[in-house]
Amino acid sequence: MYVYIHIPFCNCICSYCDFCKILYNNNYIDNYLSNLEKEIRSRYKGEIIKSIYIGGGTPSSLSLSELEQLFNIIKIFNIDKNYEFTIECNVDSLDIDKIKLFSRNKVNRISLGVQSFNDEVLSILNRSHTYKEVSNVINNLKDNNINNINIDLIYGVTNNIDIVKKDIDYFLSLDIPHISCYSLIIEDNTVLGINNYENIDEDIEYEMYKYIENKLESNSYVHYEISNYAKEGYYSIHNINYWNNGEYYGFGLGSVSYMDNYRITNTRNINKYNDGIYISNKEYENENIRMSNDMILGLRKLNGVSISNFYNKYKKDIKEVFDIEDLIKDKVLIIDNNNIYINKKYLYLSNEILIRFMIY
Ligand code: SF4
Repeated sequence: MYVYIHIPFCNCICSYCDFCKILYNNNYIDNYLSNLEKEIRSRYKGEIIKSIYIGGGTPSSLSLSELEQLFNIIKIFNIDKNYEFTIECNVDSLDIDKIKLFSRNKVNRISLGVQSFNDEVLSILNRSHTYKEVSNVINNLKDNNINNINIDLIYGVTNNIDIVKKDIDYFLSLDIPHISCYSLIIEDNTVLGINNYENIDEDIEYEMYKYIENKLESNSYVHYEISNYAKEGYYSIHNINYWNNGEYYGFGLGSVSYMDNYRITNTRNINKYNDGIYISNKEYENENIRMSNDMILGLRKLNGVSISNFYNKYKKDIKEVFDIEDLIKDKVLIIDNNNIYINKKYLYLSNEILIRFMIY
C-alpha cells in the first residue's frame, strides 16, 4: 500500500498555483497535525507501506519541531524494508538542520520545487532563489546520504527558448537523477489567470518540449512518463503506482484516496478539517471507470499498459473493451509483446488521445 500525506502550508503563494495550499500560520499547525494523526489512526488498517509521499503545499515550511511531530505521526505506519520516502521541499525553507532531521528519519527521496533558475521567470511565478542556493541545498542533501533527488521545472513561461535551454543546462550541472518538466498551465483562479497572463505560442512550446526530451535523453535520462525523466533505478515508485491506477491512502487537507474501488476526497476547508470533518466526497468507481482509468493513467507512461495485467484484473481483452483498431493502424498506439503504449511521436498530444479511452 502507498501513502500520501498533504501539508498545505506555504511561506508564500506562487502566481500559477492551483494546489490545495494556505499561507503558513503557526496558529493552525498544532491543530492540523493532531487532526492528521486522528485521521490516520481512524482510517489506516495496518497494511505494509511501500511508499510514503509528503507533499503540499510546502512540507519544508514547517519548523523543525513541527517536522519532528510529523515524523512521530509517521511511526504509526508499518513500513516495508525497502520503502521510498519522499518529501517535497522548497529551497528557501530547507536548511541543514531539517536535512539532518530527514536523514535521521529515513527520508530517502527529496522533490525540490525549483521551476526555473531564471530571475525573470521566477519573478513571474512569484518565487525567488538563486542557482547557488539550489546547488548548496543539493550538496547538503548528498552529504547526508540523500541522493535520490528530483527537481520540478516549468517551461513555457515566456517565449524565450534560450531560458529553457539554460535551465536544462543548470539542471544537468547539478548531477541529480530525476526531473519533472511541466509546461505552464494558466488556471482561472490563480494570480496569472486573474491577470489574464497569456499562453505562449504553441509551436514554440512544442519546440521546448522536444528540446528538453532530446537534451535529457542524450544525457542518459530515460523519458518514462509524459513529464518525467530519470536515470535508471530512480523512477518514482510512488508516482508509478498512481499511473498504474493502484490503491493508495491520502491523508490531510484536500488529499485523495483510492481503495476498494472508491475514490475518497478530503475537504479543502481547513476549518472543517481542524474540526475533525475530514472526508468531503466518496464515489464508487464501476468497472468501466476503472478500466478507463487504467488506460488514461497507464498510457502516460512510455511503456504503457500491460495487456496481460489488464486481462488478469478484468478477465477482458483490452482490444475488445476499447475501440483502438484505427489508433493501432495509424501507429498512434503501438502493441509490442505484452504492452500497449502511445507512439512517442504523439505523446505530446496525449490529452487528445487519452480522451478516447473514456467509456463511462
Ligand atoms: S510552493 Fe507549491 S503549493 Fe505552495 S504556492 Fe507555490 S506552487 Fe503552490
